[in-house]
Amino acid sequence: MIFRCKACKAFVVADGLSKTRKCPSCGHITRLANVKVSRRFETLDQAVTAIRYLKIPAAEREDVPYQAGEGAGDKVSQKEATAAYLAGVKISHPAGIEEQEFVQGARAAGIEKKYLEKVLHGKQAEGSIIEVRPGCYKVL
Ligand SMILES: [Zn+2]
Repeated sequence: MIFRCKACKAFVVADGLSKTRKCPSCGHITRLANVKVSRRFETLDQAVTAIRYLKIPAAEREDVPYQAGEGAGDKVSQKEATAAYLAGVKISHPAGIEEQEFVQGARAAGIEKKYLEKVLHGKQAEGSIIEVRPGCYKVL
């Protein structure tokens, strides 16, 4: 899961098993039973990937040689990278994201454009991504 540290507002990753989590930014200890979860993930890797995306300022994302799953030892699949990316977009762009930034962010996250388009069409068809206005997508 990802939650926001109450003390410093940084996003923090925690597993679903621990009772407390110390914020890596400020050291504040959060009791996870009471925490407002920003987002839950199936695996800790997905949460780590999403938070990594969030921590890269939008202006720099394109230039960062960022690969989803880097540091976890192996390269995660396009599917997992895309799931983590969309989860990050949902949190960082609650009102919707412009197509250009959406595509650039995906590229920076190591997602191929063709795959992103396929997923986008699928998610739009099932209604989990909506086009709030032409060229602006919102992840639900
Ligand atoms: Zn903190």
